[in-house]
Amino acid sequence: MAKHTVTLIPGDGIGPELTTAMRRVVDATGVDIEWEVAEAGADVIETYGTPLPESTLESIRRNKVAIKGPITTPVGTGFRSVNVAIRKELDLYACLRPAFSIPGSGARYDDIDLVIVRENTEDLYAGIEFEQGSEDAAELIRFVADRGAGVIRPDSGLSLKPISITGTQRIVRFAFDYAIANGRKKVTAVHKANILKMSDGLFLKVAREVAEEYKDSGVEFEDYIVDATCMQLVLHPEWWDVLVLPNLYGDIVSDLSAGLIGGLGIAMGANIGAECAVFEPVHGSAPKYAGKDMANPTAEILSAMLMLKHLGETEAADRILSAVRKVIGEGTHVTYDIKRSNTGSTEGAVGTQAYADALIAAL
Ligand code: NAP
Repeated sequence: MAKHTVTLIPGDGIGPELTTAMRRVVDATGVDIEWEVAEAGADVIETYGTPLPESTLESIRRNKVAIKGPITTPVGTGFRSVNVAIRKELDLYACLRPAFSIPGSGARYDDIDLVIVRENTEDLYAGIEFEQGSEDAAELIRFVADRGAGVIRPDSGLSLKPISITGTQRIVRFAFDYAIANGRKKVTAVHKANILKMSDGLFLKVAREVAEEYKDSGVEFEDYIVDATCMQLVLHPEWWDVLVLPNLYGDIVSDLSAGLIGGLGIAMGANIGAECAVFEPVHGSAPKYAGKDMANPTAEILSAMLMLKHLGETEAADRILSAVRKVIGEGTHVTYDIKRSNTGSTEGAVGTQAYADALIAAL
């Protein structure tokens, strides 16, 4: 029996080729994983009547650990994002996105080592929306007016931003626990509490209370307004350590961080809950590159690196990271995006699988 059984969701678009490369590299470390392949995405709607079959969720619940390729959000089918549905169904409340410099990636900076901890279940992503022109929207607009809470233009569409004590406590505790377990020095809570007093104001109040629980942990706490955070991330990316953010700011700031370290091709991620963890790159399914053996699998492979750490396979994880650093640092066997960042041209780039071959040789 294999030491670990992991659910593998290849996804669609560039997902299958990236997960193939990832699996080859992970297997080459010799770590004992049985991959239980499970389907999800637009391609399976015809067979299962849904892009997220129950059998796929069952597989993740059973194995507790999954890694996935990106999945396209079908437009105009009535189905919501599979990626969001997986996070919701399994209550994967913490989205972890480490962003660190890999010399040779073509990034503007070479001294970044920060971690984004994004709340994954509430905020404007709760999916509570009222369509412009609907009776429900009109009723809510009347309710707000009747309570003297404000005037909303009658032709508005509305999205609610719930932030709870429960949701904030667990994400801020996650950030502190992660900081302690990984030898980090500081947790910064990012918010817009000066304007959004009832939602972000609560987030900040609860974050401060949780920080009190950790005051003897040796991890420092501070808070920062989101717009100032964006500016300082660009001016002084080396300042930051662990950032904990509500859902929407977390989404935006993690893409900003991906840009700081050299782009989506290398930005890794994980969605973690009390029971299960699902690892995935930050980027999407990049349909224009699907099947072309061009896309950079580093983000997928570094997501697997995070997964190996989660499984306690630290040595295999470290070997993969060293191989990535070596091959990207040398710059001769890199995919088009890295080549383009470094030279302004994609000439001399290698394909997805040839890059994986170079990593395997460097393990
Ligand atoms: P995207 O798939 O992330 O691609 C946007 C651009 O980012 C690409 O055109 C490419 O830029 C660059 N890129 C992304 N992945 C790359 C890789 N592995 N290697 C090199 N370059 C890479 O974003 P999108 O086109 O907006 O989204 C496509 C679909 O994916 C949508 O349906 C979206 O909903 C879905 N999505 C899924 C997930 C997920 O599964 N978790 C996450 C985000 C989006 P250049 O062309 O400039 O090289």
